Amino acid sequence: MRFGFHISIAGGFARVCGRAREVGCQTMQFFTRSPRGWKSTPLDKDDVERFRADLKVSGISPVFVHASYLVNLATADRTLADRSVDSVVTDMERCRCLGVNYLIVHVGRAVAASQAEALVRVAGNINRVLKQAPDTVVLLLENTAGMGSEVGYCFEHIRDIIEQIGKKDRVGVVLDTAHLFEAGHELRTKQGLDDTLRCFDATVGLGRLHLLHLNDSKTDFGSRVDRHWHIGKGKIGLEGFQGIVNHPLLRHLPGIMETPRKSLEDDLRNLKTIKGLVN
Ligand SMILES: [Zn+2]
Ligand SMILES: [Zn+2]
Repeated sequence: MRFGFHISIAGGFARVCGRAREVGCQTMQFFTRSPRGWKSTPLDKDDVERFRADLKVSGISPVFVHASYLVNLATADRTLADRSVDSVVTDMERCRCLGVNYLIVHVGRAVAASQAEALVRVAGNINRVLKQAPDTVVLLLENTAGMGSEVGYCFEHIRDIIEQIGKKDRVGVVLDTAHLFEAGHELRTKQGLDDTLRCFDATVGLGRLHLLHLNDSKTDFGSRVDRHWHIGKGKIGLEGFQGIVNHPLLRHLPGIMETPRKSLEDDLRNLKTIKGLVN
């Protein structure tokens, strides 16, 4: 498994690869703008060229972009839906400019609507996105913890969305280990992990899985509360992650950690921990 982290873009894209190398990334993820706003300043041509040149020699691959947290493709609010579609299209366009092949988006929040209605809207909005977005970029749906009104915490939700998408080869899935566990999918034992993967394969298909987000969970199994924690120090634990990183159905995948980071040492320790679990 190739490991990496979510990397800050502070100071421009030209600084991203250096920062990623500093924490030993073999793969990485970043935002293309502030994840808590709708605004995006146009990409700077020189900055993009320096990023692309750096990336080529860095050996870091594959690279992922994460969409804004404000995006909600499940919303019943027309204005928010339009903004969300525009934001995802813009980010896919930015991915193309940066030479990145994947954009990650959370499935969404139903708010007051039923889950079934929400899933129909997610699929409809993704179809709108794919009509406008560059076809070199794959849109990856991330499973959720099922916190609040989130949809996408069970595999049937992801299946129902993909079934309604016209261009199925343009979408894939990211599984976040903390979200899986918090949503009530067992990962701590060999039997539990095998069952979870068998269920995912039968429902969605392992062929659609492009990435793992490797996060331990600060909250209990089935809590439906999303709190990422340091590898091995949360409720999934070291044994759980040992099973995950060595699993024959998973070990070919990239694994990105979105673990808490107060300093460089946090990332370095989490990387050392996860690497130490590989057989
Ligand atoms: Zn995640
Ligand atoms: Zn999360």
